[in-house]
Amino acid sequence: MAKLELQNVKKNYGATEVIPGIDLTIEPGEFLVLVGPSGSGKSTLLRMIAGLEETTGGNIVVDGDDITRTDPSARDLAMVFQTYALYPHMTVEQNMSFALRMRKEDPAAIAQRVEEAIVLLDLAGLEKRKPGQLSGGQRQRVAMGRCIVRNPKLFLFDEPLSNLDAKLRAQTRLEIRKLHDRLGATSIFVTHDQVEAMTMADRIALLKDGTLQQLGTPQDLYLNPANTFVAGFMGTPE
Ligand code: ADP
Ligand code: MG
Repeated sequence: MAKLELQNVKKNYGATEVIPGIDLTIEPGEFLVLVGPSGSGKSTLLRMIAGLEETTGGNIVVDGDDITRTDPSARDLAMVFQTYALYPHMTVEQNMSFALRMRKEDPAAIAQRVEEAIVLLDLAGLEKRKPGQLSGGQRQRVAMGRCIVRNPKLFLFDEPLSNLDAKLRAQTRLEIRKLHDRLGATSIFVTHDQVEAMTMADRIALLKDGTLQQLGTPQDLYLNPANTFVAGFMGTPE
C-alpha cells in the first residue's frame, strides 16, 4: 500500500493556469474519489501523477520518494482510462501480459499472474478473444487485468465507467471497490458523477477550476458542505 503526497502541485498550459497549486495526501489503502465538473483539472492531475504530463511546480511523493521527475515507466502505478486503451490486435491474454513481457519477466510467472487475474476478474473462457469480440464491461475488466498483473502500489482511474450503461456501471463500481479492498491497493478514482463518488469513496476530493473545494468523507461533504458549490454538487438539501 502506498502513501501519496501532492505538495503544491501546479499546472499551466502556456499562460493558462489550470491548477494553481494542490496539497493533498492520500493514505495507504485509501480509495479517494476525485470529483468535479468537466474541465476542473481532474485528468490533468492524474496525468501528472502518472508522469504523462509534466508538472509546472510542486512535488509528487510516493512513500517518501519524490517521483516528480521520474520517468513514467519507472513509476510503480497503473492507470485505467475511459477508453481502456487495449491493443486491438492482441488477445485478452496478450493484452494482460504485455507489460510483463516487455519487462522480460519469467514466462511461467507471467502465465500464472495472468491466470490469477483472469479468475479474479471473471474472464475465464475469453482468453483468446480480441477486444473487438468483447462487451464494454468485459473490455473494462481486461483493462483492469492489465493493471493488476503488474501489482502496482497505486491505481489511477480516469472515468473508467463512462462508456458503460447505467446498470453495468453500478455493478462495475462495486467490483472495482471490492478489487481495491482485496488487493490492498491505494486508489484515486476520477469521476464527474456524484453518485459514483458517494458510493465508492473513503474520502472525496472535490475540484473546481483546479482548486480543491473540500476534502472529506462522503458524509462530511454531504452534511457539512464547505460552500454553496459543494452543497450544489453533492445535492445537499437547503
Ligand atoms: P477534467 O478532466 O476535470 O475534465 P482536464 O484536466 O481535462 O479536466 O482539463 C482541465 C483544463 O485544462 C481544461 O480547461 C482544459 O481545457 C485544459 N487542458 C487540458 N489539457 C490541455 C492541453 N493539452 N493544452 C491546453 N489546455 C489543456
Ligand atoms: Mg477528464
